[in-house]
Amino acid sequence: MKVDLNYKLLKLFRKIQDNRYYSQVINYDSLSIDNVYDTYLKLPVMGKSRVFDNIYAYLSLEFYDDCREYDLKKVFFDVESISRNHDKVIQGIKQEWIIEFTTGSTGKPFPTVKTKADKVIESAYLLRQRKKYDHSITLENGFKFLHSYQPELLDIDIWKFNDSDMEKIVNGWIENKPKWMLATPKIYSKYASYINDRSIEVFNDNDLAFIEYTSQGILKEEEELIQKTYKCKMVNSFGARECWNIAYECKYGNLHLNNNYLHVDLVDMDNNIINEYEKEGNIIVTHFSNTTMPLIKYKFGDIAKKKKVICKCGNESDVIEICKERDSSKLINTPYYGTSIFRRVMRGIYFHDYIADIKNICVVQDGGYHLSVYVDKAIENDIYFERRFYERTKSIVDEIDKFTITFIYGSFFMPETANCKETIFKNMLHITP
Ligand SMILES: [Zn+2]
Repeated sequence: MKVDLNYKLLKLFRKIQDNRYYSQVINYDSLSIDNVYDTYLKLPVMGKSRVFDNIYAYLSLEFYDDCREYDLKKVFFDVESISRNHDKVIQGIKQEWIIEFTTGSTGKPFPTVKTKADKVIESAYLLRQRKKYDHSITLENGFKFLHSYQPELLDIDIWKFNDSDMEKIVNGWIENKPKWMLATPKIYSKYASYINDRSIEVFNDNDLAFIEYTSQGILKEEEELIQKTYKCKMVNSFGARECWNIAYECKYGNLHLNNNYLHVDLVDMDNNIINEYEKEGNIIVTHFSNTTMPLIKYKFGDIAKKKKVICKCGNESDVIEICKERDSSKLINTPYYGTSIFRRVMRGIYFHDYIADIKNICVVQDGGYHLSVYVDKAIENDIYFERRFYERTKSIVDEIDKFTITFIYGSFFMPETANCKETIFKNMLHITP
């Protein structure tokens, strides 16, 4: 195992030898198979802000050279020109580059630069995992609400859940019988309610091989309704746009790490790699294929623990368990976690309302029905921003009507979680010992 890892690391490090950032932090003169793992251990853990700070030295020379006619600031930070799937394609002098945007714990857009070949490797891996459930699965016979150009969804805002849109989609399912689906628990349960309320017969047992979901936190009552409607297994695909799949759930319910083009480790609060099982740590990922924008010991902010499982599915890669969000991230007096709600709200504000002057934002629940929104932005007392913030929150959290929201403009320190991760939301009502 370790020998294999060492070779993969050595190959990766050699391929990025001309990278201006890594040529400074890796000692290439003495690099060999014998010290490559030690070199890996000593490399800095990269969070989003560290990548941002180095972005003009962080990518491959090949990329800078091929895109020298572009204003890179626009390429990386202008989100007005991105597609509905939050990506854009840049035609360089010699080749195309794909920029995929993601949001971190605070909702801010973050670009990842990939080649077409990187994307092929990432999507082929995911397809192989899906095929383990049913060999006839293809990208075409699935219904994908996310990261796709599903033709039925082209004129639809999937987050609005209009009755007429849902009717069209459900009728399409009856007619075309998709073999699998990709969506979030919220989408599955909204459609399940729609189908149930009208007693429509859509799926029989085993029509669907599985339904895949990409975010955590399914409520118990949601799960029952979803089971009843789709009549198949729900499969957890844990990932991030930077590297796509990090872990995929097998038939026996275990989330196996992607050890194909990734190496996944957990680190403690001091960024030291944790070698024991059953110990919580921050996920860091090393991507062996992307040499344009290296992701080496790249940290997302998600907490997990590794488990030693001898799984009947035959996959020998480690199993992880994603740790639930803490009590301090609950939005009290609603069934939701504030961290995921306000991350989504801010994603909408950045990507769709194009409010681009926000440096930092943090929402603090300091009363049962009171939120203080600390916001550091160029335009203060911005009525449009405040209105969109409220409306976007309301579209997810019905109970928000009962809350008063106070906006406080100016610079402030971001609060941090127990894992020193910047967080967009914190409730002060939970007094943690
Ligand atoms: Zn398994």
